[in-house]
Amino acid sequence: MTESPELIRLTLNLHEEAACIQGIIFNGHCPSELNFDHLVSLGDLPCLDLQYASSHLIALLYEIPEATSDFPKLNALTKEGSGYRLALFSEPGKDFGLLYIIAHSEDKSGLGKYFNGAKFGLFLYHYKEVLGDSIRNYISFIRVMKIAKSSFIKKTQDKYKELEDKKEEKKHYEEMAEYLSKRSVRLKEELETAKLAIQQLNYQLEKKQAQLKERQEQSMECMICRSCMKDIVFLPCGHIVICKNCLIETMNVTPNTVINKRSNPIKCPLCKNPVKESKEVHF
Ligand SMILES: [Zn+2]
Ligand SMILES: [Zn+2]
Repeated sequence: MTESPELIRLTLNLHEEAACIQGIIFNGHCPSELNFDHLVSLGDLPCLDLQYASSHLIALLYEIPEATSDFPKLNALTKEGSGYRLALFSEPGKDFGLLYIIAHSEDKSGLGKYFNGAKFGLFLYHYKEVLGDSIRNYISFIRVMKIAKSSFIKKTQDKYKELEDKKEEKKHYEEMAEYLSKRSVRLKEELETAKLAIQQLNYQLEKKQAQLKERQEQSMECMICRSCMKDIVFLPCGHIVICKNCLIETMNVTPNTVINKRSNPIKCPLCKNPVKESKEVHF
């Protein structure tokens, strides 16, 4: 351990996302960035010497309140299922050989006893120290790595498939939105046209109603006195335009008679043709 521990910030690249954590460095070199390789249980590292783990401890990671911390990500990473596991990291751009191990304080491996209240401990080992001289250890470790790698590839493929599905879904919704937007514009136009047509029809209807009313009134009223109902037909023009009173009083003609005034002929007030005969009609 160094005399005066210093605060570090460490970025852990967890494949698809990063976790930024803080801690206290104890031992010499500590990288500021590490790449996650895979998870192992203690049984996967048969030669890991826990007796001397404290000499491999390079940093303790504390959860600092009010500071940005991605501890939950690290917690989720190291706690799989019902138990805790060791997360193995390597330094970006460095050759194979060094192994950074992050252990949870509650891990059954016993590493947590050195942590002094820290949530995680960061250890640095050489692969040789972890795997020993037995080729069988290397083979079993490579097997673990292979399993972790294929599981990662499978997860990535699943994520990729999910992403493609989401893209397809997004495209579908975009197309639907565009169609609905166009349809809405068309419907608005159609609505405007329909409103205009209704306005025109209403105008025509009002005009027709007014004409009809006028015609009805005209057809019933006597053209001369405008008070009595007309009830005299002139022949041969056939117009029914005046009442019996007006025929007698203003035209000086008796209804139902043949008119034969050559000097001053009676004329139909509507068509101005000479009237030969006037007859009373009953509606
Ligand atoms: Zn009249
Ligand atoms: Zn007439």
